Amino acid sequence: MAATHTQDIEATLQQVQLLEKAGASLVRIAADSIKDVEALAEIRAQTVVPLSVDLQENWRLAKLVVPYVDKIRYNPGHLWHHEKQMSTREKVAFIAEQAEKHDCALRVGVNCGSVDPEVANRFDPSDSISPIVASALEHSEILDKLGFTRYCVSLKDSDPKKVVEANKRFAKLRPDVPIHLGVTEAGMPLGGIMKTRLAFEQLIPIGIGDTIRVSLTLPFEEKGEEIHVGREILEKIEAGEFLSLSEIQDGGLNIISCPSCSRVENEAFVELAQSVRELTEFAKDNNITIAVMGCRVNGPGETDDADLGLWCGPTHVNLKRGPELVGQFTYNEVLIRLKDEVERLIELH
Ligand code: SF4
Repeated sequence: MAATHTQDIEATLQQVQLLEKAGASLVRIAADSIKDVEALAEIRAQTVVPLSVDLQENWRLAKLVVPYVDKIRYNPGHLWHHEKQMSTREKVAFIAEQAEKHDCALRVGVNCGSVDPEVANRFDPSDSISPIVASALEHSEILDKLGFTRYCVSLKDSDPKKVVEANKRFAKLRPDVPIHLGVTEAGMPLGGIMKTRLAFEQLIPIGIGDTIRVSLTLPFEEKGEEIHVGREILEKIEAGEFLSLSEIQDGGLNIISCPSCSRVENEAFVELAQSVRELTEFAKDNNITIAVMGCRVNGPGETDDADLGLWCGPTHVNLKRGPELVGQFTYNEVLIRLKDEVERLIELH
């Protein structure tokens, strides 16, 4: 995925080319406004690499983006934001109709941090896997009934064990639906690579997974690393080289960080994530989860389950203790506050 503002055509095109050169067979770009679509049209004109678009909340944009892309990814958890009087089925029908007209594929991208609240409310809050599976099943059924066949689903979480469980459950119920695999917000190398490899090697050998994406928090110019890592993991699986369970960190400090995308409002985010990892090294043996997210759209929800969460705005970073906001701090100040919070948690444990 291009981790750039789509309207910055030069940077996005550079990112698309960088990912293509690294071996990506499909590159995703975000579109959330008419201006993004205009930029997308220019980008399309300047590259032949297959493009996928991430629709975000503005699902009506499907009509405008279809001439320029090969695939649309929509998140069932983001459809309810606009035109609340319309049903989910009607909205999916609109997207599918546009895709059909331009022979465009769809991905139903279900994400742990942004499950459709109506689906999530049907389950006990302690069960984070069932809502993901239910949402993927519901949308597969809607698309089936609409007669739309060119779709795949993804069921992503930042915890590789949950990714394995959710995908196994879905695949058992719908073995006919292609699955796009990924561990979302896996974090920085090396931890993020380990999490992704752990999930992939438990699913791919049993026939689950048709396409993959590796999400790592990396500086712009190193984004191609996601593709290299993905291909290396596949090669290792093919060669029968698996991580033994003893190599997997079970417990200890867990840092989750998003791969960044067009929604990042301050490029200092990647550096912040790296600083968080260095600063919290002293806590490596403690069972603490810290989530570092790049934007204010998904950041608040996707940090709720962490012991400590940081999500970035243009000038300030929001620091959370569980779901409770500790405060807003500058990019430098927040590291000092975070260290205090980590020390406090260690004392409490
Ligand atoms: S948390 Fe925000 S910036 Fe990070 S990948 Fe998700 S949408 Fe993009």
